[in-house]
Amino acid sequence: MSESNIRDLYQQVIMDHNKKPRNFREMLDANHLAHGNNPLCGDALVVFVKMTGDVIEDLSFQGSGCAISVASASLMTEILKGKTLEEAEEIYQQVHKQMTNEDVDPAILGKLEVLAGVREFPARVKCATLSWHTMHTAMESDHDISVTTE
Ligand code: ZN
Repeated sequence: MSESNIRDLYQQVIMDHNKKPRNFREMLDANHLAHGNNPLCGDALVVFVKMTGDVIEDLSFQGSGCAISVASASLMTEILKGKTLEEAEEIYQQVHKQMTNEDVDPAILGKLEVLAGVREFPARVKCATLSWHTMHTAMESDHDISVTTE
């Protein structure tokens, strides 16, 4: 995608997912969860994960944050649901690389490529990555732990 296409698509996707966040709910039978905080912006999210074997059977989030943090979390829940832990890890790494301007694999990123639009606003990169770091932390623990992006 060209830079201007990414910019347009980025704005559309962020608006859409912020207005109608997917999987925005508490999950009572989650077996992994973590709290994520981005004090720079005031974003505070909880990510709930239900693993069955090594498959992410369900993924949801709650909390409050700016449009970018909510939209990124919403996209994440949509994309990672049904993936294996290994696939989720691969996607997480690609998202991270994208934000740090490293080479990425568009085939793995898929529609997450639009998140690259946030790089034009460096102060908001942490908003976009908050849910991803929180999900990653949740996967690594059976306990409720907190992540702060600083
Ligand atoms: Zn934010």
